[in-house]
Amino acid sequence: MSLAAARAVSDTGFDVRICFLAAEYSPFAKTGGLGDVAAALTRQLASRGHEVRTFVPLHGQMDLRGVDLHPVDFLQDLAVRVGHRELRYGVQTARVPASQLWLYLVDCPALFERPRIYSDAADEHVRYLMLTRAAFDCCQRMGFAPDILHCNDWHTAFAPLLLRTAYAWDRERFGATKSVFTIHNIGYQGVFSAGHAGDLGPGVGIETLHQADLATGSVNPMRHGVMYADAVTTVSPTYAHEIRTPEGGHGLDGDLRARGEAVTGILNGVDYEEWDPALDRYIPYRYDANDLAGKARNKEALLDLLRMAAPPTAALIGMVTRLTRQKGIDLLYDTLPEVLERGDVRLVALGSGEPHYEAFLHGLQARFPGRAVFYSGYSEELSHLIEAASDIFLMPSMYEPCGLNQMYSLKYGTVPIVRRTGGLADSVRHFDPASGRGTGIVFNDFDPGGVRWGLATALEWFAWPSVWRRLMLNGMRADFSWAAQVAAYEQLYRRLAD
Ligand code: ADP
Repeated sequence: MSLAAARAVSDTGFDVRICFLAAEYSPFAKTGGLGDVAAALTRQLASRGHEVRTFVPLHGQMDLRGVDLHPVDFLQDLAVRVGHRELRYGVQTARVPASQLWLYLVDCPALFERPRIYSDAADEHVRYLMLTRAAFDCCQRMGFAPDILHCNDWHTAFAPLLLRTAYAWDRERFGATKSVFTIHNIGYQGVFSAGHAGDLGPGVGIETLHQADLATGSVNPMRHGVMYADAVTTVSPTYAHEIRTPEGGHGLDGDLRARGEAVTGILNGVDYEEWDPALDRYIPYRYDANDLAGKARNKEALLDLLRMAAPPTAALIGMVTRLTRQKGIDLLYDTLPEVLERGDVRLVALGSGEPHYEAFLHGLQARFPGRAVFYSGYSEELSHLIEAASDIFLMPSMYEPCGLNQMYSLKYGTVPIVRRTGGLADSVRHFDPASGRGTGIVFNDFDPGGVRWGLATALEWFAWPSVWRRLMLNGMRADFSWAAQVAAYEQLYRRLAD
């Protein structure tokens, strides 16, 4: 059924069949925002009457406690070809908790039974090409003809190319399918050696690949998503602008400019079923904008847990982040020690990533015992507690496609300090004490001076309770729910149909 026909039969106005591909899916497999967005967007689309079939690898280390897995009997012991390899796989389904949505978990132990979701192994591109091919193969076997093939980040970025080449013969299934490619982070493009270009086959001619890259010895999956998708989206309007510039494009700005209006930005939403201090199952004291007492008690509880004594006037700064250069940790080498010297500031940081950043944060904890705590690792529970307990959330990113924690922070009355970039610029408005408008502290320049100014401004306003309360409440009342954002995706699907 074409989109136009689908629209005609649905009295809600729309009813699309979507094949959705992602490497991560929260809470089962997540390293960052991609997992959160894949889960929230597909759930929202399904709840609005669209038929969504989501393909995700059955990762070896997936946390599937309490999830009912069902093997799909006619999708077992199948073979799919990726280059010269014949890979065997099966499919298990799992009902996404509290939804009508079924996940299709692609079970290929040879590729996905690994200690981590992403690896530096030489066959990394093969793993996700296999996922992409398995999704096409399953659509054919299930008799599912998607209106939209929605792929995400470099891992599944070859799907639009495969749609136009290897699977173009199957007009019954894919003749009307349009592709959408969403860039969640352009800093990761999945580049591999041109020596492995044959892994794109069968059915993909070498002439369809980016020739200049091949000439220099590489294949860039993300570039092919940009080249071949019917529409390219990214996760905030400002980032959509930034990635078209040489400074923000990580080498793909020319390809993105060449796609003209096919490239748009749609801000991510927040899953308020997961991230709402009035409902949060991970925090000891729940609260909302009408009664903030619980927030103060969460702060006491976290300080106690971390054995940090603090005067009642102390400000608690929180951070939850992947520890990579993108996140602006370099700007904190001098600025955090300076602010921790003050005595009325406490810091709790949760994150994992590059060893030198971990060493810096461990060093801070050693230098400021009882004032700074660094928890190295990944903890869903602690991340919620940090959001609920902190006064200030620090996010000085070099670039940020959308960013989620600043939006979680707003909901939790935890005032974000952010740099004016990407989705941070689109979701946090600098506060003006004179008018009482604004939701956070926004600095412009990616340098320590910017962070220093941001921290000083936050601490000045924090010492002024009526101003701070206003600032907190402004943020708590801001609405970044998925409802508006999902409507933007629906509009895009509609536009593709015309
Ligand atoms: P990115 O995708 O670049 O990492 P986002 O802000 O879009 O950044 O999303 C990050 C998500 O990952 C948020 O939900 C954040 O809470 C979570 N996260 C990042 N690091 C950790 C960690 N160490 N422990 C728990 N959650 C984390």
